[in-house]
Amino acid sequence: MSHCAVAADVPAVPTTRMTATDPTAERPGFTELGLRPELLAALTELGYEEPTPIQREAIPPLLEGRDLLGRAATGTGKTAAFALPLLERMTPAAGTGGPGALVLVPTRELAMQVSEAIHRYGRSIGARVLPIYGGQPIGRQLRSLERGADVVVATPGRALDHIGRGTLHLDSIATVVLDEADEMLDMGFAEDIDAILDGTPDGRQTVLFSATMPARINAIAKRHLTDPVRIQIVEERAAAGEAPLVRQSAYVLSRAHKPAALARVLDVEAPAAAIVFCRTRNEVDQLAETLTGRGYRAEALHGGLSQEGRDRVMQRLRSGTADLLVATDVAARGLDIDQLTHVVNYDVPSAPESYVHRIGRVGRAGREGVAITLAEPREHRLLKNIERVTGQRIQIQKVPTIADLRARRLEMMRATLREAILEEGLDRFRVVVETLADEFDVMEVALAAVKLAHDATGGPVDEVDIPEVAAPRPERPPRDRPDAGGRGKPRAARGRGPSGPTTRVFVGAGRSAGVRPQDLVGAVTGESQLTGRDVGAIEIFDRFSLVEVPVPAADDVIAALRGSTIKGRKVTIRRERDTSG
Ligand code: AMP
Repeated sequence: MSHCAVAADVPAVPTTRMTATDPTAERPGFTELGLRPELLAALTELGYEEPTPIQREAIPPLLEGRDLLGRAATGTGKTAAFALPLLERMTPAAGTGGPGALVLVPTRELAMQVSEAIHRYGRSIGARVLPIYGGQPIGRQLRSLERGADVVVATPGRALDHIGRGTLHLDSIATVVLDEADEMLDMGFAEDIDAILDGTPDGRQTVLFSATMPARINAIAKRHLTDPVRIQIVEERAAAGEAPLVRQSAYVLSRAHKPAALARVLDVEAPAAAIVFCRTRNEVDQLAETLTGRGYRAEALHGGLSQEGRDRVMQRLRSGTADLLVATDVAARGLDIDQLTHVVNYDVPSAPESYVHRIGRVGRAGREGVAITLAEPREHRLLKNIERVTGQRIQIQKVPTIADLRARRLEMMRATLREAILEEGLDRFRVVVETLADEFDVMEVALAAVKLAHDATGGPVDEVDIPEVAAPRPERPPRDRPDAGGRGKPRAARGRGPSGPTTRVFVGAGRSAGVRPQDLVGAVTGESQLTGRDVGAIEIFDRFSLVEVPVPAADDVIAALRGSTIKGRKVTIRRERDTSG
């Protein structure tokens, strides 16, 4: 094993490192992390069986009140890593006391997602969580803020807006979390973040999570974090000889299509015995049920089962009565199943070492095993990380189409018929064929027999289309490099930008106000539902700028931008055609 520690150019700070551990070793559970019973109960209800590595490392120092600088991408469980300690440390205030925690996130989607997650974790202690983001009517947010919130999850632009209006007070803030900090910087929120942090009390706790640690993140950390605990993954690279012989592939698709996609992949792969890993107990139960409903012989295995139940499941798998095991990592720890041919990750595992342990269950004794991972587009970065750690490629594949499935079924039918022909004992059917042959061609008789056999095996359950989802841009996009002088280069020329009809939005600030393309992308994506990909050409003139956006989103973008600031200033926003008049 060779270590490849992530380089750190932050001042000498204590470093916690996560190392690969023995899969069968006892690891601290949530109980040992020092969380109160209500929060533990919420986690049990969600079906979380054990902390993810980032949670195991981050929760104790955060509970002590330490600042933290964590390198973690979406999918590692980082939301709970910062949310649980801030809920543990909080005394939800009744009435209209100011919020105790402020979580800053780059986009509206993330604001909603993070706030839902914190709500789920904190419901049991009555925590009031409020998302505030651009694009939502400000009046509704004003009323909610007035009613009082314990945790505010906000995009920086909208947070500053409320601070400026005096509707979001920072004096009660005990913890600030910067989530996906690198994304926020990329979107041009650096100054906003500085301004917000400067307005919070000096003694606050500051937590920064970022998927990458460029110098700019370290600069923010230096400025705003005090003696932070630094958490990063020490990547253990499997030596070439140790790497199991496993064909590894991944399918990138939206969550909603995962069950159907998994069914198709299983149909095409036809595993002799497979284990499907899920993150939570609840997911295990649901998926086992769904797969059973689709005609697979699936068994659920998780920490909630009694030893007897566990034994029964294992027995079914070993005897071949079941061919799919749906399990959590905890439940599958220490299991040794010889017949396993396939490992399926229903989600990308939260840490590369967990991926390595999982796929190590197949490809034993020189046999080729298969590892299949279903990833959501936002989990693409985790896949890359795994590739880096294992030093092996994960092939991104297309979900089999209905046509692929049909072809595969016919292929299997052909193989089955061939076997039947080679076997003895067909004579008793001869009379049927001979009688029909008087009336029909033998070929037609054969075709009808094949059809009946084919129909009897049942067709694919789902005939729905599973749309292909593009894997997101491989690494940091070039969008944030300020264009050198003159008019901003149209971004669409770089093969990005919206696909449908577009219109241009006039923004009354330009080069002389220091506006850069990233400020505009940041403002648009931070304050509306659009993502960076939806924003088209950006042109920056001396006194104004033009931003190309999809026609259907234009009104929303204009309304959102009017409610926010560009480079800290309110500016005129309108449709471009108005400028010609
Ligand atoms: P995040 O990285 O915070 O976006 O979390 C990724 C996913 O992992 C979310 O769906 C969480 O609900 C889930 N998750 C977080 N912590 C755990 C855990 N300890 N066990 C199982 N699932 C978890």
